[in-house]
Amino acid sequence: MLRFINKKNFNLLANQKRLASTQRSTFPTVIGIDLGTTNSAVAVMEGQQAKILENDEGQRTTPSVVAFKEDGERLVGNVAKRQAILNTHNTFYATKRLIGRRFNDDETKIDFNNFPYKIVENDNGDAWVESFGNKYSPSQIGGFILQKMKETAEAHLPQKVKNAVVTVPAYFNDSQRQATKDAGQIAGLNVLRVINEPTAAALAYGLDKTNDGIVAVFDLGGGTFDISILDIEDGVFEVRSTNGDTHLGGEDFDILLVQFILNDFEKKTGIDLSNEPEKVQRIREAAERAKIDLSHVKETTIDLPFIKDKHHISIKLTEDELDTMSLHLIQRTIDPVKRALKDADLKKKDIDEVILVGGMTRMPKIRTTVEEIFGKKPSTAVNPDEAVALGAAIQGGVLSGAIKDVLLLDVTPLTLGIETYGGIFSPLVSRNTTVPVKKTEIYSTGVDNQTGVDIKVYQGERGLVQDNKLVGNFKLSGIPPLPKGEPQVEVSFDIDADGIINVSAREKTSGKQTSITVIGNSGLTEEEIKRIIDEGEQNKGVDQIKKQKVQAATNAELVINDTETAISLAFGDVLKADPEYSDLEKHINATKEAIELGKSGGDIQVADIKNRSQALQEFSIKIFQRVARKQNELRKQKDAEKK
Ligand code: AMP
Repeated sequence: MLRFINKKNFNLLANQKRLASTQRSTFPTVIGIDLGTTNSAVAVMEGQQAKILENDEGQRTTPSVVAFKEDGERLVGNVAKRQAILNTHNTFYATKRLIGRRFNDDETKIDFNNFPYKIVENDNGDAWVESFGNKYSPSQIGGFILQKMKETAEAHLPQKVKNAVVTVPAYFNDSQRQATKDAGQIAGLNVLRVINEPTAAALAYGLDKTNDGIVAVFDLGGGTFDISILDIEDGVFEVRSTNGDTHLGGEDFDILLVQFILNDFEKKTGIDLSNEPEKVQRIREAAERAKIDLSHVKETTIDLPFIKDKHHISIKLTEDELDTMSLHLIQRTIDPVKRALKDADLKKKDIDEVILVGGMTRMPKIRTTVEEIFGKKPSTAVNPDEAVALGAAIQGGVLSGAIKDVLLLDVTPLTLGIETYGGIFSPLVSRNTTVPVKKTEIYSTGVDNQTGVDIKVYQGERGLVQDNKLVGNFKLSGIPPLPKGEPQVEVSFDIDADGIINVSAREKTSGKQTSITVIGNSGLTEEEIKRIIDEGEQNKGVDQIKKQKVQAATNAELVINDTETAISLAFGDVLKADPEYSDLEKHINATKEAIELGKSGGDIQVADIKNRSQALQEFSIKIFQRVARKQNELRKQKDAEKK
């Protein structure tokens, strides 16, 4: 969203920025969040080291999935992902692909056919999603995920978390960045800075200052592809260029495989499953598993027994077949890399190190493609799933004052310009300009006594505005009536360190403040954000219970593990002969059922989960003690017989 401010507000903003920079060292703990298309992660500085914080199930990343149940309950993360097959229409994944997008964008239309949930048009033309008649903006879904990450952090830290650095794909435009900031606000976070994912990864890679040089970060995640080229020197991380594709990632590989499986099934059975969302969801999960398997083995089988009546899916897939099938997707990474090298004025031989980020870079064919493009083996120095969150935490450390001698100089990924006569795009700030940056232009009138001027601002690289992204459309009014060409309206376009655009205006000859009227923008309005936050407050109680259920279920799982290990390793046959063994099995099954319900947000009370696992624990101790005594007796008997 292009933020339009008049001069007065602009000064206010400048003052706030100054204040923020003088108060830098006073920010308490700042967490770093990687809000990913598929998975998200949160990290924080511990001394001079960034550290990933595990979620309530002990995992270092959390699925970026949000689901709603009919009674209004909201599920986020693993609990949402686990129930996806049973609740396909109301389980939202990969919504980052929709963030800051218009309903009529071509990319949105592609997702329409591939996502089982409903994508709808909001009043302002943005793409939103719908569940049980309620509409949600992708920022709001992102907000729910950020909230979960905030809670994950708070479970590890002694105090509540307020401040965060959130990452975005480097190639995100203004609307997408602004929508991500909205998501932070919805989650109750003060997003101090939005930083680019590859830049964050480079921070994680280069913090210890032994890795100086020119570094290319190749980042292929679940939904987006970014390539950034940085010059790292003595704590200064200067981005030389960035490029990418905000609609290329693991999801596209999954879509391809799902289509392949559906076609194969139809060929063999004559049955088309594409209109059966639950089945497509099962196939989607199996397809992603197969894709991941093929990063480690040469051949895998996709098995889905009884997918439809008596019919099964059983397909063998080799790594070569997957490579061939997805070659066109892999090749889409080549051009952006070439453009980034060219923009940085570098040749591939100038690159000292190539870092891989994003889950998809584990695919061997992608690794060999990267090696071919750069003529060198990529480094495995950073963990592709964690580097982005770690880098965000490092930037958080810079803002909180915990890290002193690191400076980040990032760039704007897209050219900013305005529409001139005949729909021509006239650039003001070219792509790969270091941010923050301010550009001032003088506008005048074309007709005598004209008091208003229309200005349309676009981002993109094409010569005609119709091929670029309209980020704001505003009207300058209040120009004093003067002969044409005389008024001098000074318009300032300011891209801040988050890559977000601000506009202000002033009429110079009269010294009058010229007002700016926003005609159309995208994103959430202040009122919408407030409404969403209020709703969130109301849901807090429900969310708290949800969390307690997952915690109780996780504890119960430990009891099950201990019990089953004891049964299989220590007590064996003697236990199975015990008259109360079947009761022990009943306790185990009851606890497993409670775990399942607790984790999937099912109908069970927290106390019930705890009671069942406690009953199992007490019962198992009693029976184990008895069986141990029995084993002892038997051993003694045997020893006596031997003598
Ligand atoms: P990210 O957004 O970085 O979490 O990347 C997630 C994407 O990486 C998803 O599409 C995953 O299916 C994919 N992915 C994760 N691990 C692997 C792997 N070992 N091989 C291929 N793709 C993977």
